[in-house]
Amino acid sequence: MTDCIFCKIIKSEIPSSKVYEDEHTLAFLDINPVTKGHTLVIPKQHCTDIFDMKEEDAKAVMATAKKVASAVFHGLNASGVNLLNSNKKAAGQEVFHYHMHIIPRYENDGVRMFPHEKYKETDFKMTAERIKSNL
Ligand code: AMP
Repeated sequence: MTDCIFCKIIKSEIPSSKVYEDEHTLAFLDINPVTKGHTLVIPKQHCTDIFDMKEEDAKAVMATAKKVASAVFHGLNASGVNLLNSNKKAAGQEVFHYHMHIIPRYENDGVRMFPHEKYKETDFKMTAERIKSNL
């Protein structure tokens, strides 16, 4: 994709801090990190999000994410790591080339993730059924 910023990073047309690369994936530092060492893992084959991503690319991204998460955790003496992927604008996606965030975490680092809501019993069952009927 010619106008995709992450495709430009893959082709080294714009600068980035690459930490890992193989045939199918690339990992580089996020320029606006949640914590230092926040890294993005992307497939080299452009796809917008999880919905149009090929299964082989999903596997390759997860294999790289596992490798990089371990390096981030040990290399930066982190106390934990979050893996996070946003799909579509409503979910907070801003760059429309699939990416997995790897975020090093520390005790009392002040980072807040998602708030939670509660189910009513009927909603609980119906929600599971709606998901299952689409698998
Ligand atoms: P998302 O909101 O999940 O789409 O995340 C997009 C991420 O890409 C944000 O965390 C940005 O800081 C990051 N980002 C945008 N442009 C660049 C860039 N040129 N190099 C590295 N990270 C970037």
